[in-house]
Amino acid sequence: MDKRRIETDCIHAGYSPKNGEPRAIPIIQSTTFKYDSSEEMGRLFDLQGQGYFYTRLQNPTNDAVAAKIAALEGGAGAALTASGQAAAFYAVFNICEAGGHVVSSSAVYGGTFNLFSVTLKKLGISVTFVDPDAPAAEIEAAFRPETRALFAETLANPSLVVLDIAKFAGIAHKMGVPLIVDNTFPTPVNCRPIDFGADIVMHSTSKYMDGHAVALGGAVVDSGRFDWAASGKFPGLTEPDPSYHGTVYTESFGATAYINKLVLQLMRDLGSVPSPFNSFLLGVGLETLALRVERHCANALAVARFLKEHPKVSFVNYPGLPGSKYYALAQQYMPKGTCGVISFGVKGGRQAAVRFMDALKLISIATHVADSKTCVLHPAGTTHRQLSSEELARCGIGEDMVRLSVGIEHIDDLIADLAQALEN
Ligand SMILES: *Cc1c(COP(=O)(O)O)cnc(C)c1O
Repeated sequence: MDKRRIETDCIHAGYSPKNGEPRAIPIIQSTTFKYDSSEEMGRLFDLQGQGYFYTRLQNPTNDAVAAKIAALEGGAGAALTASGQAAAFYAVFNICEAGGHVVSSSAVYGGTFNLFSVTLKKLGISVTFVDPDAPAAEIEAAFRPETRALFAETLANPSLVVLDIAKFAGIAHKMGVPLIVDNTFPTPVNCRPIDFGADIVMHSTSKYMDGHAVALGGAVVDSGRFDWAASGKFPGLTEPDPSYHGTVYTESFGATAYINKLVLQLMRDLGSVPSPFNSFLLGVGLETLALRVERHCANALAVARFLKEHPKVSFVNYPGLPGSKYYALAQQYMPKGTCGVISFGVKGGRQAAVRFMDALKLISIATHVADSKTCVLHPAGTTHRQLSSEELARCGIGEDMVRLSVGIEHIDDLIADLAQALEN
């Protein structure tokens, strides 16, 4: 059969019921699985048999949804985690340990920035942040002999910086390490980073993938393309693991060495497994991902155009808008659209921004982005509240800035609410 379109894979990939089996992905809400002999169960612990034994390592609901995400991203395998934060941590920690170093784009989600600059440091892993728009030579200069990964967001939250994925992949591969990208905002519907050279893709599935703000979750996808043995920098993958009777992941699992090590070591030792019920909700959300993302992008573009023309708006930042600094990169990597998130300024500074937000009727104030309901947030007064005016300016967050996550309501209702609140 021809390669299926992503709209079809959103619905069908990852689960093919056999004769008489449930049509929807079943919720297997069980921590454990029963066997007839201890011999059989022992073989599972030695990684010699196929079968489920404990949900921290494998669960049929979690695995079906992970397989769907792997198919959507064009990866060789994937694993689900309990949150996007856990996915970011596992994606890096799977190949980097105390003494190691990571080069990361500075345009990353605040939670990722804290994970990298505070918590990884406590584990002996240091991170150097680079400007993603800097020339390749400048980014390469941040690498050290102990660097084990290059990290970036394909469409950064909240700055909406679009990553030159091919440039980043070229740098990572020249330096002998994988490129790990967070693809939460574009989703595979708008961008498949593996097609442009990314090696590992991670997600906060709490955003568009779930799409309804009902279940926290994360995912890590292994492209299966990085040659760990040729690089020579990853003994954890290419040398025997004493905690699994000397298993060598690259030999036992080939193209899925990385993702199997992540599950067998990190899930085993650290947990962070999603509940099968949450994975079921994620699976239901994924079925409509392509439809929803299309509407999010159409609505966001229309809202961005409306705001750009409005006399009370000082600036609009949306990479899908011609004139944006990232318009050309967005067209190259996400020609179908970027995402539903926009930031803009209300003339009159902090007070005007707050007054506008408080006057909204349909659109709600919430600390979330990327779900079906349109919401707004005032970064200077909430997520970045601790920063001084100078620090805010350095992060590119003005006191007048509003972050708007455009949902999938009817566009006329959204524009009517924005218009009345701006007139307020
Ligand atoms: C929300 C988010 C995360 C963290 O995900 P959680 O599911 O909230 O833990 C990571 N990366 C990006 C880009 C995000 O938007």
